[in-house]
Order: sequence, then structure tokens, then C-alpha cells
Amino acid sequence: MAKKQFKAESKRLLDLMIHSIYTNKEIFLRELISNASDAIDKLAYRSLTDDSVTLKHDDYRIDLKIDKENGTLTVSDNGIGMDAKSLEENLGVIAKSGSLAFKQAVQADKEHPEADAADIIGQFGVGFYSAFMVADQVTVISRAYGADEANRWESNGADGYTITPCARDAAGTDVIMKIKADTEDYDYTRFLDPYTLQGLVKKYSDYIRWPIKMDMTKTRPVEKKEGDDDKDAPSYEEYTENVTLNSMVPLWHKNPKEVSDDDYAALYREKFGAFDRPLKTIHISTEGVVSYEALLFIPSAAPFDYYSKDYERGLQLYSNGVLIMDKCADLIPEYFRFIRGIVDTQDVSLNISREMLQESPQVRAISRSIEKKIRRELTKMLEKDRETYEKFFQTFGLQLKFGVVSDYGENKDDLKDLLLFKSSFEGKLVTIKEYISRMPEAQKDIYYACAQTVDKAKALPQAEALLTKGYEVLYLTDDADEFVMKTLLSEDGKNFVNVREYQQERTDEEKEQEKQQAQALEGMLGFVKEKLGGKVADVKLSNALGSHPVSLASQGGITLEMEQYFSRIAMENAPKADKVLELNPEHPLVKKLSETYESDADTAAKYAQLLYNQAMLMAGFEIEDPTAYTDLLCSLLA
Ligand code: ADP
Ligand code: MG
Repeated sequence: MAKKQFKAESKRLLDLMIHSIYTNKEIFLRELISNASDAIDKLAYRSLTDDSVTLKHDDYRIDLKIDKENGTLTVSDNGIGMDAKSLEENLGVIAKSGSLAFKQAVQADKEHPEADAADIIGQFGVGFYSAFMVADQVTVISRAYGADEANRWESNGADGYTITPCARDAAGTDVIMKIKADTEDYDYTRFLDPYTLQGLVKKYSDYIRWPIKMDMTKTRPVEKKEGDDDKDAPSYEEYTENVTLNSMVPLWHKNPKEVSDDDYAALYREKFGAFDRPLKTIHISTEGVVSYEALLFIPSAAPFDYYSKDYERGLQLYSNGVLIMDKCADLIPEYFRFIRGIVDTQDVSLNISREMLQESPQVRAISRSIEKKIRRELTKMLEKDRETYEKFFQTFGLQLKFGVVSDYGENKDDLKDLLLFKSSFEGKLVTIKEYISRMPEAQKDIYYACAQTVDKAKALPQAEALLTKGYEVLYLTDDADEFVMKTLLSEDGKNFVNVREYQQERTDEEKEQEKQQAQALEGMLGFVKEKLGGKVADVKLSNALGSHPVSLASQGGITLEMEQYFSRIAMENAPKADKVLELNPEHPLVKKLSETYESDADTAAKYAQLLYNQAMLMAGFEIEDPTAYTDLLCSLLA
């Protein structure tokens, strides 16, 4: 039979596997056992609705077999198996779940030298291909459930694979690895040692719920026969016993006191193809309206596809130990979509359909309970372990902000106290509560300044004015921030106010003065507006600009920051802010403008353009016509 070639990206991954100097080669066993377990899960699940499956729960097993003479290690299962087409599709290409992330990382990494490969392999659950880290030759014999014939898939990794028909007694799969010879750098043959394998199963696969069995040689005392007084006869003899290597108790059934952080981390990595350690593990066992056990993980790093549409939210749902759905989205609200985890309950029927799941009051009750538990856990972290919380917030804070804004602010009350904002207060991240707790008596509103960076926010004229007064200012640098403020509106009777809307409080006398000033300058303001030809909706005086001559503000529902946000995300027909040019009447440049307006309209028009462009720059916009602007500057300076 002709050899088939691996798809290009698979080939590259294989090369990495074969030539990798990666020391953690032993994870291949975890990967193969995990595949075997998945295959049994599938058949066990099918047996619920298919009476032709005659295997009983206790019949399912995974076997490890060592053949010292031929130097092979075999991992077998009596699960769902694969037909020729599945062998081709699953083992000829890397496009399967866990391996997909890996494939993408490998591609992203193409420009980098091979040395980085080790890191990549360490980071992902790499699946079946990891067998090639320890084997020269891999043979897969598989018979699909319901098929009569079996097939043999064979490859040495390097130059393609073959698939040929063969025989197998029953449905299931054998993965036979011809273990590599020892090299100076690596002792491969230890994978033919039963104690090594036993240790690896304990380390990586202990909780797999199907028995992992292997023949082990043991010793026992020899019974002395009566009259047998040969002193040299051995008092111990060897015998072979087929032992179960794993304890088979799912971690979530265990008492949390008996589970170590390492155990949790191992399960988290194995189940979710993650490479980080969970930042926090929440282990729930609860009885009540609904009873369930859950293991929830807050990742410490966002999966690489987290903010893309490829990322699917959801928790694994088990009914009494049997996996019924891999990503049950109904168990977790969108704003906690970063949570990975497992829910096991006897209150949801094994045979429930996906549509029924959505309607299920039990699922809804569990989801509500889980949501509360996560919220409580995060609140606790925020109060007791600020450092970890800030780390969490750096990674997933944006998600919480989206949560506040989405669904018309329906969840804002549940989430607002979990938000952190950058602030002028000691340069720290602060909560809204903290801000309010230290507001000076005279301060009525909560002020925030929006800009791309903290430095730019700080430099906004109105922010400067407020800071000088000793008020705290929140620096909002996330796209979502301003929408959050517009959704929250107020807290504890205090409004959230954009510093751009801030005006100095004035005595009646001062107000009268300003009115007169405005009247006196009315002609000039109208002139500037006219000369800017529709670029601004209005031109006004402002007393809040401190040492700056101009500032840009907005009126109506769309703020400057929103306009910038829409333009960054390249939204079609993006709405624009109605811009208001604010002038500081006390500033020499503005005074100069009003003088020239009286005497020399042409030059005054140039000043108007100059001030407008400066305001645009300060507000973080680009100059519309840089050449014209430079020419303008030169002509004014000349
Ligand atoms: P993943 O397990 O993340 O899907 P793998 O590379 O480990 O990726 O496996 C690829 C696919 O090959 C699996 O999704 C499964 O369909 C199939 N497969 C692997 N091992 C077995 C097995 N022992 N029995 C049945 N199918 C298997
Ligand atoms: Mg796998």
C-alpha cells in the first residue's frame, strides 16, 4: 500500500516531536491514556441509547503492556475505536481540539529557531503525536464500534504513514510504540519499566475514571512444606498480578482537604489543554435544591484565543460521573466566560438533549449558584489578597467591564464592586468604593479622565485643575471604560463625571463677570466657529483649562473617546462626536486672537485653525492635514 504524506503543518509538528530536546517526554503517556479514556467515554455514552452495546460499566478498561523483547509499549482501550476514515482524519492531520492551539503556536513560531520548540511543546496538550517523542515507530490498530473489520495505521513519523486492513477481536484501539534506543542524553528504555509507568500514571492520570491496568511482577513468601528443611531454598517467589494503577476517583469527588494544589493544577492542564497553573481553584460540593460537585478554575493566563471568536465558553457537564457535554455554556454567564471547569450532578438526566439542557431548571439553578460562588470568591480575593486579584484583573478585568455594559447594564450591580480603575491616588488601581471613601467633603462627583494612556489623561487641562484641588481622578485607558461609566451613571448618590464636563464653581459675582466676558467675546467666538467650517458644533469659553489655551469637549451622546474607539475598531459609518472647542479667555494666545479678530481677520482665522489643531492633538486625534498645519505654523511664526 502506498505511503501517504502528512499534511505540511503536521509534518512540522512531527519534526519538532522527533528532534525535540524537550525533557518532559514522559507526558506522552498522559496523552495516550487521555485519548483512551475519551474513547471509552464515547462508547459508554452511546450505550445509554444503544442497546447493542453489550459492555457493562465494569468492563471498560485501559491496558498498558510492556514487551521487553520487542522493545514495545502498548496502550489499549476497549472504547469506540476508529474506522479507516477516522484514522486518516484524526491521525493524518493535526486539526483536532487540543492540538489546534499547538498548531497555531507552531505556525506563529515559524520564523523562530528550533530552540523555542521545547517551550511550545511544554505549553500545550499535544495529543497523539507526542508518542513520537519516545518512539521510532508507532502502530495503531483500531476497530470502530459496530464495524467488523479493523485497520492498522503505521508510521515512523518522518516519511508518512500507511493504513492497511487487519483483524482485531472487538471494538477498541491499541497504540503500539517501538520505544527508541537509549542515547547519551536520554534514557528512553525506562518507558519499558513497569515501575516507571506506574509512577507516571499516579502522577498524571490517577483520577481517570476507567481502570488503567498492567501486569506487575510481585514477590510473596514461599509457603514452607512440612519436612522441607532445605535451608538454601528461596523463601520468596515472584508472581505476576494484573493491577489497577490509578485510584479512579475523580478529583471533584474527593474531600478538598485531600487534594493538593498540584493535583488540581494537573487536572486543569490535562482537561483543558492549558499550560498555566490556575490562579485559583474553587472546589464546590453542595446539596440543596440541586446537588452538584464542581471544580472551577480561574486561569492565571488568558488562552491565546480568548478574545477571539474561536473561544467557546462553557463548563464540562457530567451526570453522575458520565460526561454528557463538553462545553455547556448555560452553566456560566458570559461575563465569567474565562472560568474553566467541571460540574457533576445527579440531578440532570444522562439522556438529556442539548435543547432540553437549555430549558432545564436544574441547570439554571446550578448556573445561578456557580455564578454566586465565583463572585464571592473574587470578592474575597479582592479584599484579602489584593496582589493576586490585581493579577487576575489585568488578565480578565476587561471581561468584567464588558459584563457591566452588556445586556443594557442588567448585571452592573453584581459586578461594579469587582472593577478596578487606574487612579491618581498613589498611582494605584482602585475600586469605586475606595474612591468614595476618601472623597473630600466639598467634592460632589466622581471624576474620570479618558485617554489612551495615563500620562495623556493626567495632562488633560481639566484633570490638572481637579488634581490641583486635591481631588482624585480615575484614569480610564480601556476602550470599554467610558461605556462602563455611562452605564453605572452614579454610585452612592454621586455622579460619574467626565473631567471634560467639569467647570469651576463660581461665586455670583464671578459668574456675572464671565457673562460679560462672554458677551464681549461673542463676535470672536462666532467668527472662530464660522472659520472652522462645521468641524466643531460650538465654540465656548471655559474657566477650567488651567494653563492651557484650548481644549476639546463634546456635546450630545457620543463623546470624543467613543468616536476614537469606533474609529479604532473600524466601525462602518461610525458616529462622530459633536465637538466643542473650549477657549481659555485668560490665556495670552486667546487674548491675542480676540485682538487680531478686531484688526486683522485673515490672521485671526489662522489663529483659529492653530488652536483647533492643538485641541485635536491634545485630545488624541490626528491632525487632518499635517502639511497645511505645518504651513500655517510657519506663516504665523514668520
Ligand atoms: P485530541 O485528543 O485533543 O482530540 P489527539 O491528537 O490526542 O487530539 O487525538 C486526535 C483524535 O484521534 C482524537 O480526537 C480522537 O478522535 C482520535 N483518537 C486518538 N486516540 C484514540 C483512541 N484511543 N480511540 C479512539 N479515537 C482516538
Ligand atoms: Mg488527546
